[in-house]
Amino acid sequence: MLIDTFGRSHNNLRISVTDRCNLRCTYCMPEEVVFMDRAELLTFEEITHFTCVAASLGIDKLRLTGGEPLLRRDLPRLVRMVAAVPGIKDVGLTTNGLLLPQQAQALFDAGLRRINISLDTLDPERFRAISRRDGLEQVLAGIAAAKKAGFSPIKINAVSIRGLTEQDVVPLARFAREQGLEMRFIEYMPIGAQAWERRKVYFAHEILEQLERDVAPLVPAEDYDPHAPAMDFQYSDGGGRVGIIASVSRPFCMSCNRLRLTSDGKLRNCLFALGEVDIKPLLRGTRDDARLAEMIRQNVRDKWEGHEINTARFIKPQRTMHAIGG
Ligand code: SAM
Ligand code: SF4
Repeated sequence: MLIDTFGRSHNNLRISVTDRCNLRCTYCMPEEVVFMDRAELLTFEEITHFTCVAASLGIDKLRLTGGEPLLRRDLPRLVRMVAAVPGIKDVGLTTNGLLLPQQAQALFDAGLRRINISLDTLDPERFRAISRRDGLEQVLAGIAAAKKAGFSPIKINAVSIRGLTEQDVVPLARFAREQGLEMRFIEYMPIGAQAWERRKVYFAHEILEQLERDVAPLVPAEDYDPHAPAMDFQYSDGGGRVGIIASVSRPFCMSCNRLRLTSDGKLRNCLFALGEVDIKPLLRGTRDDARLAEMIRQNVRDKWEGHEINTARFIKPQRTMHAIGG
């Protein structure tokens, strides 16, 4: 088992498959960006090999992300490969949804069942202001395609930024209720290219107040897990679920069970880690699984207590979100 020096057990691996994106969300990446050379990206075989070694150490849950993962050619093939790794019980995907109309069915047929689609607003102009691109209609078509393919549950991720997306909370929550989707609001974190300020975070308790006032009363979900990243609620009128990821106002570091693999083969033990371990030479050169397993164990042992977003000590990582994997 991968247990760190704070007793946290790690079974969850987020795999970024590309740093490229067809949007340029202001909170995530700069407008002008030089993407990694494709030769730097781990191949599907290398990702699967890493997954095999990680699974032998207790990783059983994966999430594919990016950048925009659907930009990686033939992603359903990777889904099949990693889902077949002995010990892997669960594979999820986080996407901006733009390419789902073309790919949802193939991903479902490859065995993917859990999907998170990011959507911050239902207003086309604000969509363009936030993502620096058009695409709202495509994302809505992507959500419809995911429903048609049979994905369930479908979670919608929205970043909560004061003065920008607080006006979207109620319309998004109502949309999700109507469509049978699970809404998840994520507090804005200091991991993008923009200068972040704590006062720009639209906090979990404010979102909850808005939902209770203008949508419907909420109660903690029956399966509410106080240690999980999302605070899960359900509408008391039976209208579905809402999750809030309060990374800033209610950090969940002490129950973190995650490791991250970047698309260029760097292992990170925290989204906000300042250091990372290059494992590509052990996948691409002379393979040495015993050494790779030891590097994964050591990376877990090196994990710090938690991010220090709320302290003056906080240092923003050099990589922005799209290059780490959200
Ligand atoms: N491109 C895909 C997408 O947008 O879903 C996957 C990668 S994206 C980096 C993963 C998630 O991170 C998205 O839901 C996005 O909204 C979220 N995210 C990006 N930057 C963020 C920030 N500064 N604070 C909070 N969430 C952020
Ligand atoms: Fe792309 Fe996702 Fe980042 Fe938006 S949040 S720029 S869609 S990687």
